[in-house]
Amino acid sequence: MNLIKYFSMIALFLAAGVTYAQNETDKEERDPGHYNNNRFKQLYEEFSTPNVYRSASGAPGPEYYQQQADYVMSIRLDDTNTRLYGEETITYTNNSPDDLEYLWVQLDQNKRARDSKTPLIEPSGAFPAEMASSFVGKYMGDGFDGGFKLDYVKDNKGRALPYTINRTMMRVEMPKNLKSGEKFSFSIKWWYNIPNHTIDRARSGYEKFEDGNNGYVIAQFFPRMAVYSDVEGWQNSQFWGRDEFALPFGNYNVSITVPSDHILDATGELINRKEVFSKTMMKRYAQAKKSYSEPVVIVTQAEAEAASKGFATNTKTWKFRAENVRDFGFASSRRYIWDMMAVKIGNRDVMAVSVYPPEGNPLWGEWSTIVVASTLKSYSRMTFNYPYHKAISVHAKNQGMEYPMICWNYGRPDKEGNYSERTKYGMFGVIIHEVGHNFFPMIVNSDERQWTWMDEGINTFVQYVAEQDFGQAYPEAIAPNKKYPSRRGPAKTIVDYMSGNQDRMAPIMTKGLNTYNFGANAYSKPAVGLNILRETIMGRDLFDYAFKTYSRRWMFKHPNPEDFFRTMEDASAIDLDWFWRAWFFTTDYSDIGVQEVKKFYVTSKMNAEVRQMMESRGMKESDLPPLVYLVEEGSDDYEASMETATLNDVVTLQQYIMDNLTPAERAKLKNPKFFYEVTFEKPGGVPMPIIAEYTYSDGSTKRVTYPVQIWRKNDASVGMVIASEMEITKIVVDPDEETADIDTSNNTWPKRKKLGEFNKFKEKIKG
Ligand SMILES: [Zn+2]
Repeated sequence: MNLIKYFSMIALFLAAGVTYAQNETDKEERDPGHYNNNRFKQLYEEFSTPNVYRSASGAPGPEYYQQQADYVMSIRLDDTNTRLYGEETITYTNNSPDDLEYLWVQLDQNKRARDSKTPLIEPSGAFPAEMASSFVGKYMGDGFDGGFKLDYVKDNKGRALPYTINRTMMRVEMPKNLKSGEKFSFSIKWWYNIPNHTIDRARSGYEKFEDGNNGYVIAQFFPRMAVYSDVEGWQNSQFWGRDEFALPFGNYNVSITVPSDHILDATGELINRKEVFSKTMMKRYAQAKKSYSEPVVIVTQAEAEAASKGFATNTKTWKFRAENVRDFGFASSRRYIWDMMAVKIGNRDVMAVSVYPPEGNPLWGEWSTIVVASTLKSYSRMTFNYPYHKAISVHAKNQGMEYPMICWNYGRPDKEGNYSERTKYGMFGVIIHEVGHNFFPMIVNSDERQWTWMDEGINTFVQYVAEQDFGQAYPEAIAPNKKYPSRRGPAKTIVDYMSGNQDRMAPIMTKGLNTYNFGANAYSKPAVGLNILRETIMGRDLFDYAFKTYSRRWMFKHPNPEDFFRTMEDASAIDLDWFWRAWFFTTDYSDIGVQEVKKFYVTSKMNAEVRQMMESRGMKESDLPPLVYLVEEGSDDYEASMETATLNDVVTLQQYIMDNLTPAERAKLKNPKFFYEVTFEKPGGVPMPIIAEYTYSDGSTKRVTYPVQIWRKNDASVGMVIASEMEITKIVVDPDEETADIDTSNNTWPKRKKLGEFNKFKEKIKG
């Protein structure tokens, strides 16, 4: 018999024993069959089929389309009565291949109407105590008279259009179907009472300052077109208050009339700057455009405080033009300080801008604009160059909300101007986050009403990168010699949530309105997931290239979850279906540990187990090729002398080497002395690579990452045989806590003494 025959014979012989045993059980009781529940199964059932609109690569398809909604609006702020009046003309372009029978318009303010159903979907309980202010609001008032009051809806010939309001959605009927490629213009006149956002917890409204002045942060303030797409048809899912928006891109021409002593900034380019700026402001603005390292104040604190003492009865109209934006917002008050600086993005200058009342200082004057500029740089590096000409951070009490080019942010010092670390980092974090939303979802325009994670989760991930950048660029802003203390992003920040009660969890792929623990589920978990992909599973180069590819492919378009998932794989050659499935489609958690470590010694002496199998087959030792036997420490065949033996003592092995290898090949052979079978266990449902750190008797360490595919055929435990020249003294799984492992008590071998055992030991020595 030649050697190959010998080997196949021994392989058959060993395998036969196993098969035989299995057949025995099968006869007793057959397991029922099952569907393919493999955690590495491709995501064909969960994903929609690629088509001409969306390609299998994750890129927009050859017939991808999106609708356009252009607005011309004339807005008037009534500061005395805190009301907003508007007239708007919407020109809607149907780029879809479908004929549209009607249009859907979003009326977000109706969430605050007296007959709103939003308060009725929140189950309530009687608390032992309630704030008097909230008690009055809940049980004693007749409610704020919010909601749009519509004066008319008419076409461009002045004819009234039939419309139906279903809560926050309005269906407008056109004289005839709007065919593919056609445009339709119509006008709406409206007004509404502006809510006090500090009482009403609205995302938009006014704050009343102690001196009687109002600061307005105004958004979701006009009837806005809903999205019509290849995925949802009309996205006319109601606005209950939590899920944000799905909005088409368009061009805006907006004039806003406010008291003449107000300072105002908004989405878009200010096109009548000379009419609304004083000569001094123009001069300072010219300086700001050339200041790349620090902000230049356009309206000073002293000027804002002086203006706050008056109350102009005449008005000024500020005119803005914005191209390719999905929404419009503005902020206005006579109590605003205004500063800005330039920031180079690619070869263009972008203005980083801050608007804040004196209540925000000293924090805001010092940091807001610097943070905006730093954020634009980081996000541009991770995605694409910021395409708009400015980004504004407005300080509004308790707010954190984003619109194109403008956002509202919290972070207010106390009355003496003192602030805690928490307030400071809260302000940095929220500005980075809300300015970051310019990229997701204002430019990479996902459907927020449906998929909260696509803007909040992806944005929170880039926020983490931007926070770390900011900490490095401005060490004076953070505690000395520390990294920026990011609240979300690192894997271990999600462990508490993922190890929690499964009844209070929903997969990330759940509509935001229906998730529990919104912040952890829609912001933190997807952000951590992307961070794990970047740092552990894909590596920065492959991840960053793929992430950039997604951002660029879907810039100024409407991506869907599959477009993201597919692009990340398409651009990296890494099959991530297992990761999307586990992390985004389930509530499983990650937990990997070391279950058992067995030590083996090598000998040429046949052991009892093999001898028994041989005999049952009627085979003799001489029938076998030279074999190397592994004997487990402590087993029946184990002898103390084995510990001093080396590979040189294994006669069968040496004979094989002498017969088959050249002297040169022999010289290259390693000479391991210790043999281990390590069993890794995986109590968690999420597959993860096994990152194992081995410590040797001389104190040195070696890290081995076993790719996640190691779990593909056994989801519970896997073995790995390790041959080592030195004794292994310790094994730690996931030593840097980068996989969100929820239980680290099984991560170390030998097992660390539990506190209970240690206490028992202490009792014993005391006794
Ligand atoms: Zn957000």
